[in-house]
Amino acid sequence: MSAGLVTVSYIGATILFVLALGGLSHQETSRRGNLYGIIGMTIAVLATVLSAAVTSYSILIIAMLIGGTIGFRLAMKVQMTQMPELVAILHSLVGLAAVLVGFANFMDPAAIFVGVEKTIHEIELYLGVLIGAVTFSGSVIAFGKLSAKISGKPLILPARHWLNLALLILAIWLGKLFLDATEHGEGLIPLILMTIIALAFGVHMVMAIGGADMPVVISMLNSYSGWAAAATGFMLSNDLLIVTGALVGSSGAILSYIMCRAMNRSFLAVIAGGFGTGTGTHVTAPGAAGEVIAIDAEEAANLLDAAKNVMIVPGYGMAVAQAQHAVYEITKLLRDKGANVRFGIHPVAGRMPGHMNVLLAEAKVPYDIVFEMDEVNEDFPDTDVSIVVGANDIVNPSAQEDPNSPIAGMPVLEVWKGKSTIVLKRSMASGYAGIDNPLFFKENTRMLFGDAKNSLEAVLRVLAT
Ligand code: NDP
Repeated sequence: MSAGLVTVSYIGATILFVLALGGLSHQETSRRGNLYGIIGMTIAVLATVLSAAVTSYSILIIAMLIGGTIGFRLAMKVQMTQMPELVAILHSLVGLAAVLVGFANFMDPAAIFVGVEKTIHEIELYLGVLIGAVTFSGSVIAFGKLSAKISGKPLILPARHWLNLALLILAIWLGKLFLDATEHGEGLIPLILMTIIALAFGVHMVMAIGGADMPVVISMLNSYSGWAAAATGFMLSNDLLIVTGALVGSSGAILSYIMCRAMNRSFLAVIAGGFGTGTGTHVTAPGAAGEVIAIDAEEAANLLDAAKNVMIVPGYGMAVAQAQHAVYEITKLLRDKGANVRFGIHPVAGRMPGHMNVLLAEAKVPYDIVFEMDEVNEDFPDTDVSIVVGANDIVNPSAQEDPNSPIAGMPVLEVWKGKSTIVLKRSMASGYAGIDNPLFFKENTRMLFGDAKNSLEAVLRVLAT
């Protein structure tokens, strides 16, 4: 393929990537956005493979077959609830690729630069390897934490901020040695040492982060992987990689910011780590004691039958139970009976951004009754019944009522302000942040224990008769 055609293909792919991001920002256009992304990536891969830079196809085809098969199998197998783990491990591969490309580029005898060009190239290379190594080891640890292979508890070493500062200073000093090296290959030792330091830094950074902050960390690592790709693009003089890397880097950073705001956390506080106790540890909240009022499906159906305004608040448990279809069946029935049924979605409900929206879209719930938290949070006093489907942390009043709560200040859906709330879950177990929930003990809360799908189907049977 001629260089001109490659450039045109790259420009086309870039435009498609921008359209993909635009499309993915709204539910109605997300499918189209996804399609743009797929077409853009296909063009990008084909143009790269067919460009003059590729001289031997045998290794490339074998590598693409192996990588493609692994990716295909993983994507077919992965459960919706395991998506963040998959994303984390895929980010680690982007980081690893940046490190390997950096080393290969450094050792390439043909890559000889002089003067300012040499300095710029070496800075790109050093930064690419640095960000890539942090992304790689950080993402592997994030994968371990999300898949419960490593404890979700934050590992807080004494003087850890000083340790991080020392690692940073060491990386800068090694960078100077690397740039000062005159002979080709002389900079290898500082480059290797810096890579080891960056790997250690990535492990230390993510180990210190508690369970409840993991979503922000995943999107932050997403951003890092983008910047690592952009640095690789500079190294290889590949414009498409630079633009794509910058798109991923900046959208990941914006997403981290939005999530921090949704959890009322400052970005620096997240990086400093230590928030949320992860799985297994329970923090008892004031008000989280006393009697809970359990009801059965028939009583729940009676409450819903009499309601004019219903708010459905889905959470992680809806994903586990795959209850979204049953939720929609109930929604249709109640709407047919004249009730105003709406969905209130918390920005960090479930285990990944947009998790609930994806499930509701899969069940064909109309977009115009699905609202973001800020759009409906004022409406709870006028709500007759709120149904909390497998949600816990996102409806925990201690975020507002208990300044000592680990989630103090996090905006939550104020279901307890409604006339009555039905909570569907299997037990009194805590949610992701590992803290008790005083909502379950409120006078106007009714607990419908059991798997959310089974419970909703039982409610549906009663409602339908
Ligand atoms: P939570 O994890 O707080 O609570 C989920 C609840 O669902 C549990 O208490 C569990 O209770 C219940 N549950 C589990 N399985 C079932 C089932 N089969 N049927 C009925 N109930 C079930 O989820 P939320 O959505 O309320 O909050 C999300 C949490 O996850 C936040 O802390 C957030 O920070 C974190 N997070 C969010 C990410 C994101 O990007 N959205 C990513 C990673 C973490 P029981 O066991 O008793 O049934």
